[in-house]
Amino acid sequence: MSIRISKESCVGCLACTRVCPGSLIKEKDGKAFIRYPRDCWGCASCVKECRFKAIDFYLGADLGGNGTVMNVSEEGDCLLWKIIKPDGTERIIEVDGKNSNKY
Ligand code: SF4
Ligand code: SF4
Repeated sequence: MSIRISKESCVGCLACTRVCPGSLIKEKDGKAFIRYPRDCWGCASCVKECRFKAIDFYLGADLGGNGTVMNVSEEGDCLLWKIIKPDGTERIIEVDGKNSNKY
């Protein structure tokens, strides 16, 4: 698993750099980047932390893989996880933050 960071969408807030447990995300010229993508173990913390949808998370082969990526945005109490397949088709999984710990 790994991530990719969009230079166009990144605003350089560096929130992602503070949550990566492996300190893998660095800053250059006001933008975040990951120096060693293969070291990413897929915790998705940076994806959740980025409020600008600048980070896509590559899904492993066991989860659909083959270029499928996922990102997340917030809408009220909900997290909307968007899964984008290589053919452009999208699926959204909505997680209600208020109730997610009830199960
Ligand atoms: S959290 Fe998002 S916008 Fe902020 S530096 Fe990281 S990638 Fe860029
Ligand atoms: S998914 Fe986790 S390990 Fe990978 S870059 Fe983001 S915060 Fe670091």
